Amino acid sequence: MSVLPNTTHAPEEAASWMPALPTRTVRCYLCACEFDVAPKAMSASCPHCYRRIVVEDVVIRGPWWGGKIETCGAVEIHKRTRATATVLLAGAGVLIHGYLDGSVVSGGLVRLTERATVKGRVRAPRIEIHPGAVIDNALLEIPATPLEALAPIGTPELAPAA
Ligand SMILES: [Zn+2]
Repeated sequence: MSVLPNTTHAPEEAASWMPALPTRTVRCYLCACEFDVAPKAMSASCPHCYRRIVVEDVVIRGPWWGGKIETCGAVEIHKRTRATATVLLAGAGVLIHGYLDGSVVSGGLVRLTERATVKGRVRAPRIEIHPGAVIDNALLEIPATPLEALAPIGTPELAPAA
């Protein structure tokens, strides 16, 4: 029996006849629980709160105006893009290169790059503000965990900044 000399990984636990089904773990933005979805899934039913939720990453490239931007995945706002939303809710994280007029709730890192501007509230376990970014009249909250960041969703406290 030949064995690859540089094999360092333990064999998969799954039975040999099963095809490998990769999954990714997402966090429901409505109840903050974690579960696995197929890598390319765009939406899913949360097995805990049974509600339909968006799980794909959202990229905003052009002018955007609307109510909520919601996903279990990540949200990216491109350079020279102006987005207006009541709430931007991302389970995984938020990357802002452009301008966001609205509040952010994230279960992961919120990063404002060099020319980013945020006007609103930001609640996330980590907020990274690069030199050149602008915080315009924003309220920043940094809860200890992703769960704490996401858990109060749906409470009046989460109403968009006045
Ligand atoms: Zn849920």
